[in-house]
Amino acid sequence: MSYAYDDQNIFAKILRGEIPNTTVLETQHTLAFRDLYPQAPTHVLVIPKGAYVSYDHFASEASDAEIIDYTRAIGEVCRLEGVDLPSGDGFRLISNAGAHGVQEVPHLHVHILGSRHMGRMVAKAD
Ligand code: AMP
Repeated sequence: MSYAYDDQNIFAKILRGEIPNTTVLETQHTLAFRDLYPQAPTHVLVIPKGAYVSYDHFASEASDAEIIDYTRAIGEVCRLEGVDLPSGDGFRLISNAGAHGVQEVPHLHVHILGSRHMGRMVAKAD
């Protein structure tokens, strides 16, 4: 089974410059930008520039260079936003995938949430 990537998803459009974003960090393989509907004072999305649907897709098929760049960029965003340890008060890193993960945008992204206490990790399902 292979992963099906929809290049009309909203983050693909952001990467092509078709819709605007508020960039926090851009590197060779990664873009970080502010979530349009922030759920915490710090809410940044970090995406690889490559066409990956989900974290498992990326972890399986991305090059070492992409994985290193993406991972380092996540750390750098935490530092830029002042939520890193030990200088900040911490953060929550979330990556939703597929139907059970309740993923809205089918391009890999992690949410970096912080600058407030984030509460319990997972709510009970309805
Ligand atoms: P997920 O449910 O994990 O797929 O999260 C998708 C996230 O993308 C949500 O938190 C949305 O608020 C966010 N989002 C949707 N459209 C945009 C956009 N144009 N710019 C920034 N964030 C967006």
